[in-house]
Amino acid sequence: GREARLRVVLRVRPLTCMETRRGDQPVVHSLGDGTVHVSAPKHDATFGFSAVFDASTSQEAVFEGSGMRQLVELAIDGFSCTVFAFGQTGSGKTYTLMGPLNQTETQPAAPGLLGLMQRSFSCLLEQSRSHGSDLALSASYLEIYNEQVRDLLSPEPSCALPLRWSKTRGFYVENQLCVDFESLEAIANLLLQGSQRRRTSAHALNRHSSRSHALLTIYIRSQAVSTCPELGGGACPSKQGTLCFVDLAGSERVKETGSSGELSVEANNINRSLLTLGHCISLLAKPQGKRTYIPYRDSKLTRLLARSLGGSGITLMVACISPSSRCLSETLSTLHYASRACRVTTRP
Ligand code: ADP
Ligand code: MG
Repeated sequence: GREARLRVVLRVRPLTCMETRRGDQPVVHSLGDGTVHVSAPKHDATFGFSAVFDASTSQEAVFEGSGMRQLVELAIDGFSCTVFAFGQTGSGKTYTLMGPLNQTETQPAAPGLLGLMQRSFSCLLEQSRSHGSDLALSASYLEIYNEQVRDLLSPEPSCALPLRWSKTRGFYVENQLCVDFESLEAIANLLLQGSQRRRTSAHALNRHSSRSHALLTIYIRSQAVSTCPELGGGACPSKQGTLCFVDLAGSERVKETGSSGELSVEANNINRSLLTLGHCISLLAKPQGKRTYIPYRDSKLTRLLARSLGGSGITLMVACISPSSRCLSETLSTLHYASRACRVTTRP
């Protein structure tokens, strides 16, 4: 019942080939000790987080240094755990969560490049084996595209699913598929299959830009064990935890991405839900006594994240930024957003 702060870590990706070719200068420098310094004409600021990963940090080091392993363990212990990646389009959110793009079931990424998700799956299944397979695992995978919830596990092009609220469950999605799995291959394939169904569009900042928010949730049920020494041989109560991975669609300026028509409708929907998320975070960052009404209902995204952000969840935020001088204003906005999030508390 104690308050827990959101854990916020920052990842600065390397300059891309294109950025290097056109002569972009890096303006973000890690100072060690969880701080970064942004130095550009008229801008000179330092920001601190629980951890900062610079361009040279490996995927494995991000997994170990972000506290992701502990989050997996807490989910097994019955907590609702969420990790979300946010930042400008092209800042490395999907890379951090899943590794490089264009992976397929027959051609997965090199093990060293796998992201937080696959590493968490391995960790979960290892723990599951050591628990003597008394953990029942299942997964759902949804996307929010243009304010509609779609099922990424459904093989048919699915229609929008209704989002409902109940006193016992809070906000939930009706009729979502929930698939049981027992092996690492099975959950890794669900992730790849679902990701291929995600809406992406090519635009100026990222050739495979995700145009939707994607939420993969793993439900972990530890079944009651009949011989539990602590209870004198009686049954242990069963526990139910969740581990949710959220890949947010990137914030962007319509002008910079060259979006028009349908793309700008998407961009406006994305920006509106991110704005609502930002607004909820600002309100949640106020001390508990001074909090006013939190407008979770203003977007589907914030409804689905209500528990992780303000309720009983344990949350890790991974803010992603590009070091390039050209991304300065988006980078500063991500850094401010992330700094506010550091003050948000929940009661796990
Ligand atoms: P986002 O999901 O934020 O839009 P991506 O994850 O798709 O961005 O990353 C944009 C590009 O940058 C991709 O080509 C990706 O492979 C590359 N990239 C991102 N982060 C890294 C990193 N830490 N190391 C190497 N390449 C990266
Ligand atoms: Mg992406």
